[in-house]
Amino acid sequence: MRGLTGRVAVVTGAAGGIGAATARRLAEEGAHVVAVDLDEDRARAVAGTLPTESIGVRADVSAEDGVAGYLAAAVERFGRVDLHHLNAGIPGSFATLPELTVAEFDRVMAVNVRGVFLGVRAAFRQYAAQGTAGSIVLTGSIGSLRGSADLLAYQTSKHAVLGILRGAAMYGGPLGVRVNAVAPGIVPTELFAATPDVSGGKDDMSRRASSTPLRRAGTGEDVAAVVAFLLSDDAAYMTGEVVSVDGGAGIV
Ligand code: NAD
Repeated sequence: MRGLTGRVAVVTGAAGGIGAATARRLAEEGAHVVAVDLDEDRARAVAGTLPTESIGVRADVSAEDGVAGYLAAAVERFGRVDLHHLNAGIPGSFATLPELTVAEFDRVMAVNVRGVFLGVRAAFRQYAAQGTAGSIVLTGSIGSLRGSADLLAYQTSKHAVLGILRGAAMYGGPLGVRVNAVAPGIVPTELFAATPDVSGGKDDMSRRASSTPLRRAGTGEDVAAVVAFLLSDDAAYMTGEVVSVDGGAGIV
């Protein structure tokens, strides 16, 4: 499938498990990818292996100048941007509600909420400046739809992603800009491993994975396929949607 031939796609968190898989999938479908991450070496390495002309850019998505920087790099190299997968995110520390500090709460919100807000706002401004109608996909989580006593900051941040999603989809609809989200379940990436109560070692991973209807953990590629679909014209009549990619975990 080469449904994205010639499109220019920004992927944030592109050095990570889900972002790198999305970068590859979009490139395999013909898009030029701007692989954005705090980790410049890995972002460049990801871009360097893609089958289309693509670039890796260092940026902090939680800062206005970081977002402006990756868009400037994209426009300088490719002249425009058509697609965004705003995917960068950090795990929260394991803490019960009374133990959760303001500093930790703010740290998670800065990347997972402010970063997504800044990325969406910049995407809309870029599309307006170009006079084009692009498409945007956000990365929520199964945690966007559930509570957690011990991961409150992370889960709250992922609920907030859906607030941005719905507001942006309503604003973007009349402009022809579609905004959707994926909600992954368990995907064994570095982020997942850094969330102690969730990962809890291999045994816990196997237990949780085997309790999903599809009886396995997800992969970056599982998520990337849905992101590519939502960004493509095949999803032309979808906006404001949250698509779970969780092996059915959400129905258990
Ligand atoms: P990951 O840790 O492999 O990748 C995340 C990437 O984001 C890293 O490369 C990191 O350097 C980058 N990043 C972090 N802060 C950044 C910042 N301020 N600016 C730019 N880049 C930054 O994790 P992943 O599992 O691939 O996570 C990707 C997204 O998927 C996240 O939003 C995460 O919350 C979400 N998610 C993951 C899972 C899972 O099980 N892995 C489940 C649900 C949702």
